[in-house]
Amino acid sequence: MARHLGEDHYRLLFEFSMDAVLYTETDGQILAANPAACNLLKYTEAQICSLGRSGLIDASASPEIPRMLEERELKGSTEGELTYIRSDGNRFVGWTSSAVIVDGSGPRKTVIIVRDLTDTKKKEAALLRSIRELNDLYNHAPCGYHSVDADGMIVKINNTELSWLGCSREEVIGKTFKNYLSSASQDVYTENFERYKKSGSQKDLELELIQKNGRKRTVWLNSTAIYDEQAEFIMSRSTLVDVTERKELEQELIRKAQIDYLTGLNNRDNFNSLAKREFATCQRLDIPLGFLFLDIDDFKEVNDTYGHHAGDRALSAVGECFINALRNIDILGRWGGEEFVALLPGVAGLEVRELAERLRIELSEFRINIDQDVSIAVTVSIGASYLESSDSSIDCMAKRADVALYSAKSEGKNCVVLNPDSLA
Ligand code: GH3
Ligand code: MG
Ligand code: MG
Repeated sequence: MARHLGEDHYRLLFEFSMDAVLYTETDGQILAANPAACNLLKYTEAQICSLGRSGLIDASASPEIPRMLEERELKGSTEGELTYIRSDGNRFVGWTSSAVIVDGSGPRKTVIIVRDLTDTKKKEAALLRSIRELNDLYNHAPCGYHSVDADGMIVKINNTELSWLGCSREEVIGKTFKNYLSSASQDVYTENFERYKKSGSQKDLELELIQKNGRKRTVWLNSTAIYDEQAEFIMSRSTLVDVTERKELEQELIRKAQIDYLTGLNNRDNFNSLAKREFATCQRLDIPLGFLFLDIDDFKEVNDTYGHHAGDRALSAVGECFINALRNIDILGRWGGEEFVALLPGVAGLEVRELAERLRIELSEFRINIDQDVSIAVTVSIGASYLESSDSSIDCMAKRADVALYSAKSEGKNCVVLNPDSLA
């Protein structure tokens, strides 16, 4: 159709084209430039023609030139990105299509069409920037991110989580996430994974990650599932929050709530709950059990003579003396003030008195350093009891031991009283 157009029509197409068009010799000499080209390059047509191709293109910023010239020579046409220089010295990248016109007569000519890529380049750069930002956010977020497929294999993982595992991306991709968990957490994870694939979400699953060097990290795993159109699970989108410090703090708080601050022994509450459990076990398995109330004699005098701080140190030393004298399975606690309490699993009837007597002697021979050059000894009165078949709770044993302690004090202190002191 266009072949039937007259020259005037071609001239009109050239004049009113929205794209910049240059009509040139193959050696780069420019014969004509349309108004769009003048507008783009900010030169008159005459200036463009006199500058020629080499005067308009920044060769040092256009590495495509040799390839494009070679391609045009071989194939008759080419395209690529070239950097142009405007009359004001500003440069822009133009998408350049160049084709040789073959009309059978005279030297070959070329038509070059240039499209300004400034806006496209800007959009491309903005897109790249936001992709980079997103990647940065994914990789360096203060939480772990990963995705696993339906078999639990890691298909994607961020740098934060990799650093927690102490592994490279190559080592981890394709391995099951379960590999990086402690054995207790592996069971929890496996149990939850199948359920989660169906339900599509998993909240605050507490797991223990094992780092390559063996270090453990407690995390909370939150996941949402991605399904295909057939509602088949494709992969997870998982977030891991490091709760190691929180967990340690929690354990420290629990420990503090159970331990007497002065002696480091079980406090009264913790002793009571351990004692209840021990009582139930011993009763069920018919294991003997001994109970002791230990009250330091005349402790007020220690405070009065050496001061309260020295008294504190003395109480702590007494606790150490008892713990060293007892067996690992015995349960020792500070009942309050200068009173201690002990539970002796496996110690039967009258043997409780013997063990209590041993404790009493150990303490009386134990030197407590009050100051650099002052050491003292304290004595203890002990009320003892043992598990009887009629006992309904640990309180029954405690009551008998308390009565025995009262007797020990009235009998002159520094002695042991067992209640009852003979076996039925
Ligand atoms: P007894 O032989 O009758 O048991 O005489 P005692 O002085 O040991 O008993 P009493 O109940 O009269 O006094 C207990 C003393 O223990 C008085 C109190 O100040 C002291 N005490 C209790 N708790 C603490 C403590 O945490 N630190 C110190 N330093 N002293 C304590
Ligand atoms: Mg007392
Ligand atoms: Mg006392």
